Amino acid sequence: MRYVDIAIIGGGAAGMSAASRIKALRPDWNVMVFEKTDFVSHAPCGIPFYVSGFFEHFEELCTYDVNHFRNERGIDVHTRAKVVEVSEGSIVAEENGRERVYEWEKLLFATGAKAKRLNVQNEDLEGVIYVDDILSAERIKRSALKSERVVIIGSGYIGVEMAEAISRLGKKVTVIEISERPLPEYDAEIAAILKSEMDKIVELKLSERVVAFEGKDRIERVLTDKGEYKCDLAIVAVGVVPNVDLAKKLVKLGKSGAIKTNSRMETSKEGVYAAGDCAETINIVTGKPDWIHLATPANKMGYVAGVNMAGYELNYPGSVKCQITSFYNVEIGKAGLSEFEAIREGYEVVSAFVTTKSSAKYFQDGLIHLKVVANRNGKVLGVQAAGKGVSMRIYGATALLYKNADVRDLFFSDFPYYPPVSRVWDPLVVAARNLFRKLGMP
Ligand SMILES: Cc1cc2nc3c(=O)[nH]c(=O)nc-3n(C[C@H](O)[C@H](O)[C@H](O)COP(=O)(O)OP(=O)(O)OC[C@H]3O[C@@H](n4cnc5c(N)ncnc54)[C@H](O)[C@@H]3O)c2cc1C
Repeated sequence: MRYVDIAIIGGGAAGMSAASRIKALRPDWNVMVFEKTDFVSHAPCGIPFYVSGFFEHFEELCTYDVNHFRNERGIDVHTRAKVVEVSEGSIVAEENGRERVYEWEKLLFATGAKAKRLNVQNEDLEGVIYVDDILSAERIKRSALKSERVVIIGSGYIGVEMAEAISRLGKKVTVIEISERPLPEYDAEIAAILKSEMDKIVELKLSERVVAFEGKDRIERVLTDKGEYKCDLAIVAVGVVPNVDLAKKLVKLGKSGAIKTNSRMETSKEGVYAAGDCAETINIVTGKPDWIHLATPANKMGYVAGVNMAGYELNYPGSVKCQITSFYNVEIGKAGLSEFEAIREGYEVVSAFVTTKSSAKYFQDGLIHLKVVANRNGKVLGVQAAGKGVSMRIYGATALLYKNADVRDLFFSDFPYYPPVSRVWDPLVVAARNLFRKLGMP
């Protein structure tokens, strides 16, 4: 049995941010991180770019290597250390084939999320790979290079990014999506822009459900409720679920299934914290608890957990769930709620959809399609965009949503003008002006 001031389970974005903060504020404390793989501070966000060959070594997905944390930051990082049991005051970790018990003063769950399973026949066949951690990136790349036909199941942002990555390797790609549009979290107008781009490069099958995988020793066919698709590799990216197998025995979960936390990232149990993809936070737009499994909130939740675990005070306000992705030349982004999500939340909504150039008319650059959703009082609920110049608009919208802006704030925001990248009347401002009309404002 060994005693530690701080035990952290998971060495990803949240876990390493927390560990770094605690050591910076309390250099004398013993901070121990347990990570079941060989890697810490890895960024799964780069997986599609590794697969498509933007860089060669998958280790580059790690922001820093383990020794940086050990030697420069004084964090006691245990890799290949899988925590298998958690109880009040202690944990059991499997290290080098042996179980070791550690007593902790404070504990952080930073166990992330895990790939949602399809639960269909033969999903464990060789050549069916779930997009998960950076080890799955290596397996996908190796298998993709040997394949001719690849089926990707799911067209959330990970499925879309993987479709581009695999098609860049010169493979024939089929994407199967159960919903009627790709990126189902977006409204139909925005998803339609992506669909027309995807249709040019990959075979996109919508409103189809995968029912089984078939093959002798390895995958040969994906069967759906509408047909069958021959392939040498099937990549499954149908979403994630919070990894709370350990935590659920010790602390309360929220409605989403992720760990319930307050703004200090404390769980229901004193001295136990949670951060990142395994934890719930507040959705700033709705003001309600939400499960927002993205990298920037994970890092910030980790930072806040670290400050509070070190005995200081810092509150995490929540997230507006902003995201950007792309498929070849089309950028797609979203901050806050789409229209259907806002309606589902019970808002009475108005929306404006504009298609305009994102730069001055004499530049050849393409169009941006942008949608702003507001409630009847003019509060902005969400912004989505597809096309060119999307990321700038999503950055602007994120800051405004964070401050609970209304359509007047959006209209009067002084977005900068420079002909190659923006317009005097920015697409965000044009959409706000359209909303003035719909809201009966002058
Ligand atoms: C392909 C892909 C692309 C993505 N792209 C983006 C993007 O562009 N933008 C964005 O914002 N987000 C993106 N994300 C999401 C983002 O990667 C996550 O939100 C972020 O990594 C969450 O950090 P975390 O620390 O909470 O969890 P993780 O990074 O998953 O870290 C959790 C760690 O806990 C370890 N662990 C789990 N259980 C145990 C145990 N019992 N014992 C010891 N260790 C354990 C795991 O091995 C893992 O290292 C992407 C995710 C994927 C998979």
